[in-house]
Amino acid sequence: MIFKKMFFLAFLFVSIFAQAQTDRWQQHVDYQMDIDFDVTNHQFTGKQKITYTNNSPDKLTTLYYHLFLNAFQKGSEMHLHMQNVPDPDPRVAGKFKKLKDSDIGFTQVKSLTIDGKPTHFTIEGTILEVKLPAPIQPHSSVVLEMDFLSQVPIQIRRNGRNNAEGIDYSMAQWYPKLAEYDRDGWHPDPYIAREFYGVWGDFDVKITIDKKYIVAAGGYLQNPNEVGYGYQEEGAKLHLPKGDKLTYHFKAPNVHDFVWAADRDYVHKKYLRKDGLLLHFFYQEGKETKAWEKLAPIMDEAISFMNEHFGQYQYKTYSYIQGGDGGMEYPLATLITGHRPITSLVGVSVHEQLHSWYQMMLASNESLYPWMDEGFTTYASTLTMNHLAKKGLLGGMQYEEDPFAAHYSRYIQVNKAGMEEPLSTHADHYLTNTAYWTGAYTKGELTVRQLEYVIGRDNVAKGLLAYFDLWKGKHPNPDDFFKVMEDQSGITLDWYQEYWIQTTHTIDFAVKSVKKKSRKTTKIKIEKLGVMPMPLDVVVTYKNGDKELFYIPLDVMRGEKTGDVLTEMETNIQKDWTILQKEYEFVIPAKFKKIVSVEIDPSNRMADVNRDNNIYKK
Ligand SMILES: [Zn+2]
Repeated sequence: MIFKKMFFLAFLFVSIFAQAQTDRWQQHVDYQMDIDFDVTNHQFTGKQKITYTNNSPDKLTTLYYHLFLNAFQKGSEMHLHMQNVPDPDPRVAGKFKKLKDSDIGFTQVKSLTIDGKPTHFTIEGTILEVKLPAPIQPHSSVVLEMDFLSQVPIQIRRNGRNNAEGIDYSMAQWYPKLAEYDRDGWHPDPYIAREFYGVWGDFDVKITIDKKYIVAAGGYLQNPNEVGYGYQEEGAKLHLPKGDKLTYHFKAPNVHDFVWAADRDYVHKKYLRKDGLLLHFFYQEGKETKAWEKLAPIMDEAISFMNEHFGQYQYKTYSYIQGGDGGMEYPLATLITGHRPITSLVGVSVHEQLHSWYQMMLASNESLYPWMDEGFTTYASTLTMNHLAKKGLLGGMQYEEDPFAAHYSRYIQVNKAGMEEPLSTHADHYLTNTAYWTGAYTKGELTVRQLEYVIGRDNVAKGLLAYFDLWKGKHPNPDDFFKVMEDQSGITLDWYQEYWIQTTHTIDFAVKSVKKKSRKTTKIKIEKLGVMPMPLDVVVTYKNGDKELFYIPLDVMRGEKTGDVLTEMETNIQKDWTILQKEYEFVIPAKFKKIVSVEIDPSNRMADVNRDNNIYKK
């Protein structure tokens, strides 16, 4: 509902061409789940009722579910992936070898009905396939009911029991989850511990578990006074059940996943922001988790920054839950390991929470375009952390003029090692983890940072807000993102998308020569040594300390940037650089002897793989 209304507002400000694109259908799924958990054997039975609405124009003849827990078995696709990559994830490596039957994860489907009729299905690894007896017609709904039995594996990756810090249950990727169908068709990717893509809908989940366990989840608890543990309303009388078990009833509206965790030793603290957003913190108190006591007001400031720069958070709560094996994002919650000093704890909390924007509310297909999620999240995290440092909230961590510098070096290092793969690679299909991590996180982040250089810092800042308003709730793809940035800046970006996303071609420009042309003029020659074209900021510094920007747009941009960091100085727009041109020269109205240096991109935002040749110094 909110999404539609916001779209209308956004439409007023964005060009009319954007309208056709935003009218994109979405499948819809409502989950009702009743879980009965047995802590003695780490198994649970589930009754799941799904109402699935086909909003597509297509007749669906097949359905797919993810059974993520089946990944935690010897010989699974996750296990094979780990054996095949030359640089396996140290968090996963080795854990498969010694798995006993009682250690593995599984989901056994006991029955499945469609509109009350039993249906046949097949299971291959983590994917369940249903050949439908009758197609699901466009704009119609079916009810799918499943009974299943699952076992929680020992902690291998993200989910599992008894993690390294002793959290009893990290319940992520834990239930049979319908795969997403979009205009490109089905996306039934096997689970190899990487990325996700899901269908939006409303979750209604009842978890019945031994009453010694405190349950934390990404949802709104419906029966706080029947649970206690810090959930109860102020002044309310508790109505705790008599037996050994307790039922937690959660709802999560308009999300595409549901996570929970349970531990016997959690403390539960709450923090209410001025805007009404309620933050929950669940962790085991102890000397390793001292930093958690300081987390709430810092995240309060961080969330204000996120809302202002990346769009308004759409939900009523957010929970920071100790669990998992690092940091992993879910709707309304994150699972993070908790034994960290404050900068690390804030760093992981900021990163995972920012996924609420790029993976939860916008929710690009993370398998196909991991850089749109991890990369944009990393970009936003870098800015948010730098803001917190500037406010003096991060103790040892200092504010930096250029917080992205080290990230450029990382990308260049992997590129020079010959390990880079194009950003258009499917997350599961990268040949190495190094290439995936550097691509999705680092080069993905630089996609946005470098775009500041191409279209101007102010256009990127406004573009990110426009992108969120137009595309939240609609699974945007790369074309959608770049189209928003084109509309925002008036600059054509096909070339940027093509070279930067589809290829591993690099950028390398050099100042070839600076020579006296006449008594009052100087000729500057620039050489393009890399394959990827770019517009150029060339800054000339004079003896008296003055600086002047000579800006060379690229012909295929069909425009010039505005509102950028350097355009505040005296700017001279030069003739276009033609995309296939190798060399470019221009004459400046300045005496040669007055020039101290000529530098390409002193803002260091272009991912030039060799910066040594970017500067001419006398
Ligand atoms: Zn992330």
